[in-house]
Amino acid sequence: MAEYKTKVLIIGSGPAGYTAGIYAARAGFKPILVSGSEIGGQLVWTETIKNFPGYIGTGHGQDLMETMRQQALEVGVTIVNDKISEVNFNRHPFICLSDNHNCFSTETVIVATGASAKWLGLKNEDVFRGFGVSVCATCNGFFYRGKDVAVIGGGNTAVENALYLTGFAKSVTLIHRCDCLNAEQSLQDTLRHNLQVHIKYDTTVEEILGTENPPTVNGLKLKNIKTDKTETLKVDGVFIAIGHHPNTEIFKNKLALDRNDYIITKPGTCETNIDGVFAAGDVMNPEHRQAIIAAGSGATAAIEAERYLNR
Ligand code: FAD
Repeated sequence: MAEYKTKVLIIGSGPAGYTAGIYAARAGFKPILVSGSEIGGQLVWTETIKNFPGYIGTGHGQDLMETMRQQALEVGVTIVNDKISEVNFNRHPFICLSDNHNCFSTETVIVATGASAKWLGLKNEDVFRGFGVSVCATCNGFFYRGKDVAVIGGGNTAVENALYLTGFAKSVTLIHRCDCLNAEQSLQDTLRHNLQVHIKYDTTVEEILGTENPPTVNGLKLKNIKTDKTETLKVDGVFIAIGHHPNTEIFKNKLALDRNDYIITKPGTCETNIDGVFAAGDVMNPEHRQAIIAAGSGATAAIEAERYLNR
């Protein structure tokens, strides 16, 4: 157990957290960043990152995140590999406690805990995660040009993803466990008029099929929940679009959250309802879940924290 004192505590090591750290360090605040259990954040699951300006590495998202971590260390961010378990925003300086019994006393907090995509929970899903099974069509659709893909889900995100993927894929099969879609009617109409899209209702995914060395998806075992019949669908990629949940459990009753538990910030800022606590990245932006946007808001949060400290 250690006691840390800082002016800026950053919670999270995704693009928002590292960017906030880099800005706060360069402003002279010697920030501390607590990484959480997913060091580097969601991007470490990305097959190949091609849409982060200035990064033309051919590598896995892990490489980009490691570069950000190195840059943060080089400019003076102290990174603590730990997870915040409790926050007290009723006193100032704020107090944050961690799983490893560390105590952080801080004048400002930047919450960058991100959001986690919901996965299907199938037994071999982890093997193909980032290798044919993705939760981000915007990020990985490009790699399925001329191929057959499936989208799992029936809400707005699933339908939007399916439509987006028709720009690349030869065919898109939307698989939904209910007998009708939950997406907005206009989206459903557009989808039904698209000849590249096939919809399978009342259907669940039983298994992801493929070879494991190297991991390559080649199909899905599907089951019709009304007839119990199973079938194999040949696909090269699977996009899971069954929702996200923000990582805000520890902020419940501590910060204002919206009805889906995302942190509410004042429009056009990263300010939360508590003076001195800022939120950046996916944890406060359910609409635009992209690394560059998270990084941008990390920079905004750090600049706002700097103004708060210098006021
Ligand atoms: P995250 O990246 O979610 O990071 C959150 C961080 O908070 C993690 O480090 C976690 O450990 C930490 N944390 C959580 N709880 C705690 C706690 N209690 N204490 C301490 N730390 C905590 N975007 C793109 O722009 N291009 C892509 O190609 C792309 N591909 C993607 C592929 C996949 C498979 C996924 C899932 C997402 C992809 N995205 C992509 C989206 C992108 O990853 C996110 O928008 C971005 O990572 C959000 O950054 P963030 O910093 O807000 O949060």
